[in-house]
Amino acid sequence: MREDFLLLNPGPVPLSDDVRAAMSDPMVSHRSSEFEAVYERAQDGLDYVFERSTLDEAETSAGGTSLVLNGTATMGMEAAVANLADEDDEVVAIVNGKFGRRFARIADRHADVTRVEFDWGSPVDVDAVADAVSDDTAVVTMVHNETSTGLLNPVEAVGELAAEHDARYVVDGVTSIGGDEFRMDDWYVDIAITDGQKALAGPPGVSALYVSKRAESHLAGEDAPFYEDLDWHLRKADSHQTPFTSAVPLFRGLAVAVEEIRHEGMGERIARHRRQSAAFRSAFEAMGLDLFPDLNEHSTYSNTLTAVSLPDEVYGSPEGFMNEIGERGVSISGGQAHLGGQIFRVSNMGNLTSEHVLRGIRTIGESFDAVGVDVDTTAALDAARDHLRQ
Ligand code: PLP
Repeated sequence: MREDFLLLNPGPVPLSDDVRAAMSDPMVSHRSSEFEAVYERAQDGLDYVFERSTLDEAETSAGGTSLVLNGTATMGMEAAVANLADEDDEVVAIVNGKFGRRFARIADRHADVTRVEFDWGSPVDVDAVADAVSDDTAVVTMVHNETSTGLLNPVEAVGELAAEHDARYVVDGVTSIGGDEFRMDDWYVDIAITDGQKALAGPPGVSALYVSKRAESHLAGEDAPFYEDLDWHLRKADSHQTPFTSAVPLFRGLAVAVEEIRHEGMGERIARHRRQSAAFRSAFEAMGLDLFPDLNEHSTYSNTLTAVSLPDEVYGSPEGFMNEIGERGVSISGGQAHLGGQIFRVSNMGNLTSEHVLRGIRTIGESFDAVGVDVDTTAALDAARDHLRQ
């Protein structure tokens, strides 16, 4: 692998040297005091991220517990739903992209699901959600930052509806938490989920959940899936233990990653992600490209990843363009499922510098030129610099 390889996929994201080093420390038992210290550090850092993800780092939760699970966020999503709903319960699942759909498909296996669906990349119509949520709804699921389309969904507006009907509210913050604003109580969130390898800039393989005090009394206890029994995870977490063998190196990497976030400060981290995503958007617009998602009054562009429609010249067959990017030592993502061949996606999650962002833009501009798409890379870089300077 080349020394200067730059990973701009929406997860996994590049790791700091300290995160990588932590994962190669000598092995310890997951029942040792050394491991408990690691889990405690991870929980402290995660409490900070889950509770203070605002520009002024004000506290946004009246209480809750951070958990780390062996297994990525898909497992965390399943743990949340399966602990809060049983097969006769109604789950209202909001779907406007691949990960909203995933949440609905997970819920199908545990409960009775009502989907509120929109085209991928279209904004959520909050009135349609209001029509679907009722006093019979046990759980509402929502994806905050829809990674498949680059759209930031209205978590607060939907949370108000869930709260009005006393439904539990489970939010996938996988590509927002650690990079953008996230407010537990103001947005009525009962369980929030994120992944190690996204905006936390930790390793893939573990997910993090924040279980609010409100959610605790609704957990299924022994009716929950054995491995995902959140009551059990919470009891063990009191003494910084996990019910089963922990992925020790991954917990260590995550502990360092969240300490690095605390060192930067969530306020500055959110502001940096906003500057960098604005730089990407302006650059692609200066190239004459169209941003993929549609917005409404409740939705905005993602601040952690940018999804762009492919221009006509490469629409449907972007392989040559993607190869040119790869040859320049950079990795970005295409569209997922039916959006394959229609869009490309670039992440700014984690610890990127302005130089990384500019290199990403330069690489994409040069790669378009190489496959015969005429874009103005100099104008794109100038547009990006205007944001990065602020
Ligand atoms: N939710 C969102 C918004 C995501 O972006 C992803 C992964 O990209 C997931 C859930 C699922 O994550 P994983 O594949 O790590 O389980």
